[in-house]
Amino acid sequence: MILAPSRRLSLLMVGALQIPLFLASLPVSAASALAAWALGSDGVLLLRTAKGARLEAFFQSADRGKGARVWIDFPGELSRTRTLRGSGPVQAIRLGKPTPGSTRLVIEFEPSIDLDPAQLKLVGTSPDRWRLSFKGLPTRGLRRIGEGDLTASTSGRWTPGVSISPTRTPINASGLPKVSRGRYRVVIDPGHGGPDPGAIGIRGLREKDVVLDVSLQVAQLLEAQGVQVIMTRSADIDVDLPPRVARANRVGATAFVSIHANAISMSRQEVNGIETFYFSDPRSAKLAAHIQQQVLNVSPGSPDRGVRRGRFFVIRRTNMPSSLVETGFVTGRLDSPRLASAAHRRRLALAIATGILNYLQGAR
Ligand SMILES: [Zn+2]
Repeated sequence: MILAPSRRLSLLMVGALQIPLFLASLPVSAASALAAWALGSDGVLLLRTAKGARLEAFFQSADRGKGARVWIDFPGELSRTRTLRGSGPVQAIRLGKPTPGSTRLVIEFEPSIDLDPAQLKLVGTSPDRWRLSFKGLPTRGLRRIGEGDLTASTSGRWTPGVSISPTRTPINASGLPKVSRGRYRVVIDPGHGGPDPGAIGIRGLREKDVVLDVSLQVAQLLEAQGVQVIMTRSADIDVDLPPRVARANRVGATAFVSIHANAISMSRQEVNGIETFYFSDPRSAKLAAHIQQQVLNVSPGSPDRGVRRGRFFVIRRTNMPSSLVETGFVTGRLDSPRLASAAHRRRLALAIATGILNYLQGAR
């Protein structure tokens, strides 16, 4: 069960909270998701990003003669680090890459400037636009500063350094992509189980039941293609997360795929969609992209919530390419009846198996 992430990010206080860090084990080659930005003379920061990009925003208060700072991290690597001189309350604006494969926009205020981080919210105004109003900022002397075209339309969704060629989902097992038999070992991880039902949706639909059925079918489809499959659970039992990961790491799997269904409040039945998570490395991103593309194929009308970075334990602690797919919302008006249908679960299994096999074909 994963709640839909909010498009409204409060700035995290550095020091008060641990800084979220994505530790990329391999460089991510994607271009920066930051397309354009501008800080207006009214103290409002506007951003244009690739669609679906995940942003993180931070605040650090003034300290030892240094002014307060606000910074925003974007996925994808900045091509050129630079510092621009500010005006009025803003000392400088810096663009950097704190880690390979990332972009950071830093606004440094003059030491005399006092800001209340509780008043600062980075708000997504559309899938590719963001707004941060520096409430309480004395704007005297502030001149507009910015780069890029904020009004341009953003083409395409940001994908994490991976380009995959979309393929159709076969209607039955005979159409599945072929891989060398006996060469690959894949761990399939059906979420939850036993006393942990996962998300509970419309008409009492239980995530654990949906994902076990889909997972068993994925396993059977892969095995028929000569892929060895290890299931973290193959019955309605509870398995903690550490043993799921330990098992996958012990068997030296080629890939790890955790299968889940999403949920949000039962009063939000308009929320539907497919999303696939990976933790950090580009191979995991590629695996996630293949699975996402396939699951979307069999889920017409269900929104593409994207291939996203996520910090879920099972994908963070496994040491092989791994991803976690959310096959739809058990609370969604569109997704839930589908997830309850055996025919749709069969299509989901074909889709996920195809995504995994497509990934294995490229992973040779
Ligand atoms: Zn779940």
